[in-house]
Amino acid sequence: MDRTTPARMPAIFFGHGSPMNALQDNRYTAAWQSLAATLPKPKAILAVSAHWTTRGTAVTAMDAPETIHDFGGFPQALFDLRYPAPGDPALARQVRDLLAPIDVQMDHAWGLDHGTWSVLIKAFPQADIPVIQLSIDAAQSNAFHVEIGRKLSVLRDAGVLIIGTGDVVHNLRMMTRGDAPAYDWAARFNDKVRACLLDNDFTQLIDYPQWGRDAELSVPTAEHFLPLLYVIGTKRNDERISIAVDGIEAGSISMLTAVVGASE
Ligand code: ZN
Repeated sequence: MDRTTPARMPAIFFGHGSPMNALQDNRYTAAWQSLAATLPKPKAILAVSAHWTTRGTAVTAMDAPETIHDFGGFPQALFDLRYPAPGDPALARQVRDLLAPIDVQMDHAWGLDHGTWSVLIKAFPQADIPVIQLSIDAAQSNAFHVEIGRKLSVLRDAGVLIIGTGDVVHNLRMMTRGDAPAYDWAARFNDKVRACLLDNDFTQLIDYPQWGRDAELSVPTAEHFLPLLYVIGTKRNDERISIAVDGIEAGSISMLTAVVGASE
C-alpha cells in the first residue's frame, strides 16, 4: 500500500485555452496561481502538452529549452514572452529508463511549447524550476497514455510535478466570439468528463470516443484531450481528484483544470 507523504507532488491537468492567457489575468490564471501557491516548490516539472505530438515517444533532454511560439495571429507581446526555465537532462534520462521497454528518444530540437509555458508563466512565474516535456505518440491507444502516467507516477514522490496541458473540449472551428455561452454539446461533454474524474470512472473516460456526437464535436482531434490521460494515470488508489477551476470559453474551449492528489 502506498504511503502518503507530504513530499508527494500532486499531478495537474491544465485546461490552457487561448495562448492569450499568458498575457492576461483572469479567473483561470488566478486559479493556476493559487494552485501553485499551495504546493511545496517542485524539484522539477514534467509536462505533457497537446502541442507536442510525435511518432514514437520523446523527452526533451537539453540544458536550456527554447521558448517555442507555436501559434500565429497573436500580438507581438505574446511572441516577446520567454519562459527561460532550465531543462533537466538527468530527469529526462530517468523518464526514458522508467518507460522502458518503450523506446523514448532523447530530444534536443523541441523546447517548451505554449501549452506548457503559457500555464507555467502564471503558475511559476520565476521560471527557476527545471522543466522537461514528454511528447504524445498519437498513434497509440488511450490505455497506452494512461499507462505512461502510471509508470511515471513514482516521480511524484521525488518532488517532480507532473502536468498535462490541453483542453477537455477543444473545437477551434466552432469557436464563437465574445461571451457567447457554451454549446450544449460542449457543456454536456465537459460535465461528463468532470463527473468521471470526480467518480474515478477512468474506464468510461478512456472510452470517451464512444460517447457519440458530443464527443465528436468536443474532441474533433484527440491531442488536446490526451494529456488528461497521462495525469489520471499517475493517480494512486488512496487519492482523489479535485477540480481547481472550470468553464468553457468561446463556446467550445474547456478550461477545466483538475488536480490528482490535491491536499484537502
Ligand atoms: Zn492548445
